[in-house]
Amino acid sequence: MSMDCLFCKIVAGNIPATTIYEDEDVIVFNDIKPMAKIHFLIVPKLHLESLQSCDASQQQLLGKMLLLAPKLAAEQGLKGFKTLINTGREGGQEVFHVHMHVFGGGLPNA
Ligand code: 5GP
Ligand code: ZN
Repeated sequence: MSMDCLFCKIVAGNIPATTIYEDEDVIVFNDIKPMAKIHFLIVPKLHLESLQSCDASQQQLLGKMLLLAPKLAAEQGLKGFKTLINTGREGGQEVFHVHMHVFGGGLPNA
């Protein structure tokens, strides 16, 4: 856990979030500024700054995140979805704790 990491604080329960799934490895919660009707974030509980700081020891965790996307998207009623992992400042990453965006259902206010 990184004390100054927003997502570590959500993992620890110190900042509230609308959690839609949680197990020993990951937490999944709705994005606070949704860019689609459904927009959630799949977040490992382990603090990893970005995909650039992952290695083979995270292979199982990263695979688990990918396979959770269709399961949770279906639970949210989506028949299809988009995924996004922003990586590094130049890659548009704003929160430096690995997370996968899952979007679907059209624009938020449409
Ligand atoms: P990034 O640009 O790093 O890929 O995405 C970070 C995402 O985290 C953004 O979509 C942003 O809206 C979301 N976010 C930032 N702060 C919070 C927060 O306090 N709670 C939740 N649920 N999402 C947040
Ligand atoms: Zn963190």
